[in-house]
Amino acid sequence: MRAFIYTALPVRVIFGRGTISRVADEVRRLGLNRALVLSTPPQADQAGKLSTELAQLSAGVFTHAAMHTPIEITEQALQVAQRSNVDCLIAVGGGSTTGLSKAFALRTDLPQIVVPTTYAGSEATPILGQLEQGQKTTLRDLKVLPEVIIYDIELTLTLPAALSVTSGINAMAHAAEALYSSGANPVTTQLALNGLAALAGALPKIICDPTDGEARSDALYGAWACGTCLGSVGMALHHKLCHVVAGSFDLPHSETHTVILPHALAYNEPAAKEALRPLATMLGAPTAAQGLFDLARKLNAPRSLKELGMTHEALDLATDLAVSNSYPNPRPLDRASIRALLEEALEGRPPGPQAKAAQDQGQESVHA
Ligand code: NAD
Repeated sequence: MRAFIYTALPVRVIFGRGTISRVADEVRRLGLNRALVLSTPPQADQAGKLSTELAQLSAGVFTHAAMHTPIEITEQALQVAQRSNVDCLIAVGGGSTTGLSKAFALRTDLPQIVVPTTYAGSEATPILGQLEQGQKTTLRDLKVLPEVIIYDIELTLTLPAALSVTSGINAMAHAAEALYSSGANPVTTQLALNGLAALAGALPKIICDPTDGEARSDALYGAWACGTCLGSVGMALHHKLCHVVAGSFDLPHSETHTVILPHALAYNEPAAKEALRPLATMLGAPTAAQGLFDLARKLNAPRSLKELGMTHEALDLATDLAVSNSYPNPRPLDRASIRALLEEALEGRPPGPQAKAAQDQGQESVHA
C-alpha cells in the first residue's frame, strides 16, 4: 500500500425514500427553529410545501436560486433572511439551489440541511462557485459544507430523463478525475469506482423508465459517492475546462461536463492508464474515454459544444483560459493539444487523435 493522506468531511447523510419528512427532526436536532427554505423558481411549489409542513420551524421561502450562483441573488436572499431572523438554511433542489445555500452560509455561517434533487453532488463538497460580474470564481471553505444531507429518492423521480443523464455524467466526471487526482487515496478510489458503477448501471434504466425506483436509488447513491470524491480530492483538466467553457461562454453546467468528459479523459489517459483501467473495464471499452463517449451516445446525451451554443471563434480564448494557470494534471498541458481537444469537443468528434499524439510522443505520467 502506498502512503496516502485522507481527510474525512464532517457531514451527516440520511438516504432513503420519503426522507424529506425527516427535515423537521433534523432542524430540531441541530437546536434550531427558524429555517429559510431555498429553491429555484421551477421548484417553488416544492419549497412552499416543505415550508408549510415545517410550520413554526419555517421562517419562509426564497425561490430565486439560479445557475452558477450569481452574487446579486445571494445578496437578495441575505436581505430576506435578515428581515425574518433566520437561524438555518434548507436547500431543496439541484446544484444551483445548493450553491445559493453555500454562498449564504459563507457569509453567515448558518447551518445547512440540503435535500438534493439532481446528481450534481455539490451537497457533499466544501466547494463554492460564484458568478460576479460575468466571472466565475471558485473557493474551498469548510464553512460552506452542509451539516446534513437528506437524500430522498422520491424527489428525483421528476428529474427529466435528459437532465438525469447529463447530471449523472456530471457526477461520473467527479469520480473519473478522482481516480487520477494527485490526492487520490484508497478511500476515494473505492468510492469513485462504486459511484461510477452505480451511475453507469442506472442511467440506461432511467432513460427507459424515469420512475424506476431501484435505478433512481442507485443513481442517487452514485451521486453521493462521486460528490464525496469531488469534496475530498483535487480535480484536474476536465473540471478546469468545464469551469472555463461553461462559466465564460454561458453554457449549461451538466451538459458541458457531459460533452467534455470523454475528450478530457482521452487527453489524460496516456499518462493515467493504470488509474483509468478499472473504469475502461467497467464500461467494456478499450479506454475509459471511449467507454464514456459510447455511454453518452447510448443515452442520447449531447456530444458537441456546438449544440450547446459554443462557436468556433471562442476556441482560442477558451484555450488561453484553460492553460492560463498551472494545476496538478496527469499529463502536462500543452496549448496545441488542448486546442485540439476543445475542437474535437466542439464538433462532437470521437475522442482520441490528440491523445494518440501524446502516446506517439511517449509522454510520461507527471503532474504538471
Ligand atoms: P440546477 O440545480 O440548475 O437544476 C437544473 C434545473 O432542474 C433547475 O430548473 C431545477 O429547478 C430543476 N430540477 C432540479 N431537480 C429537479 C427534479 N428532481 N425534478 C424536476 N426539476 C428539477 O442544475 P445542477 O446541474 O444540479 O447544478 C448546476 C450548478 O451546480 C452549477 O452552478 C454548478 O456550478 C454547481 N455545482 C457545484 C458543485 C460544487 O461542489 N460546488 C458541484 C456540482 C455542481
